[in-house]
Amino acid sequence: MSGLFDRELQAGLEAVRKAADVCRRVQAEITPEVLAKKDQSPVTVADFASQAIVCRHLEMMFPDDPVIGEEGAAELRAESGSAFLGQVVQHLAGVGIMGSGDDVCRWIDRGGQQEHCDRFWTLDPIDGTKGFLRREQYAISLALIVNGRIEVGILGCPNMSPNAGESGPGAGVLAWAVRTQGSWSQPLGPTTTAASRLKVTSTGNSGDARFCESVESGHSAHDWSGMIAAELGIRREPFRIDSQCKYLAVARGDADLYLRLPTKKGYVEKIWDHAGGVLVVEEAGGRVTDIHGHDVEFHHGASLKANQGMIVTNGLLHNQTIAAVMNHAPQDFRR
Ligand code: AMP
Ligand code: MG
Repeated sequence: MSGLFDRELQAGLEAVRKAADVCRRVQAEITPEVLAKKDQSPVTVADFASQAIVCRHLEMMFPDDPVIGEEGAAELRAESGSAFLGQVVQHLAGVGIMGSGDDVCRWIDRGGQQEHCDRFWTLDPIDGTKGFLRREQYAISLALIVNGRIEVGILGCPNMSPNAGESGPGAGVLAWAVRTQGSWSQPLGPTTTAASRLKVTSTGNSGDARFCESVESGHSAHDWSGMIAAELGIRREPFRIDSQCKYLAVARGDADLYLRLPTKKGYVEKIWDHAGGVLVVEEAGGRVTDIHGHDVEFHHGASLKANQGMIVTNGLLHNQTIAAVMNHAPQDFRR
């Protein structure tokens, strides 16, 4: 592989692989007792460890690049966070990254940028924390944005099946895209398997489509998607999975559509919940807009304040999906 942004891609892939390794180790420690207590500690530890790993790696490779990340180290720096900080330090050492508590906090806080600039990375160290805690799907999402355009998108999906078409859990997938260079994936973990190119479906008849959406009805309106599916004649049950694994599902043809329909008026989507996935779908031949059919604007800092919700399709089904979305939009989301 060589080409524009190749150094950035290789650095990002290495960082996400390592972050996924730590997330897996922490998730493996989640016991039924932890689940029963609804104890958030595993996701807290893994979230911070993942952000520390990726930001540290980016700092070594591209010291001038800011990172707009989801987490900050304030909680860890507080007295009450010292036990968590100790665990994060230990987990990093477990994958060969040695650093003090101060080092770890500094790496995490490198992801503290919020404002837009000409060139920056955006990171969700664990997208789909609820899926992580249920020992289901989650993703590590990293993207490089230059002049408001996503140039590199990377998704680490540690529990997805490496085989397209298998929507059940599996041994993990690393997917990536560089603008104009296509979307690719490889099994996640120590592997020499060649990368395979991702391509969206060619489903043109909406009645044959399968759509995916959030497991959480608080993150995307299930009643609204039900009305859209009825209008489009969709017969198959929705494919509900957490995180940006939904973008991977559309990019490789496990689903034809991903509907993210706002549940409350004031909610503004965050760039780290989308940027990695958006380019992976677009470079696989798909299309991404908001619910109004507007392009997604990645030049407003951490938020997608110019957009509402998200509609992701194989391209062929886009216009009719947007029409159906608008036909059933609650008053708050009409324009
Ligand atoms: P998902 O796994 O697709 O349900 O999405 C998880 C992401 O939803 C999290 O990373 C949150 O940033 C985001 N989120 C939290 N609250 C909301 C909300 N009310 N509407 C949409 N997304 C949300
Ligand atoms: Mg997220």
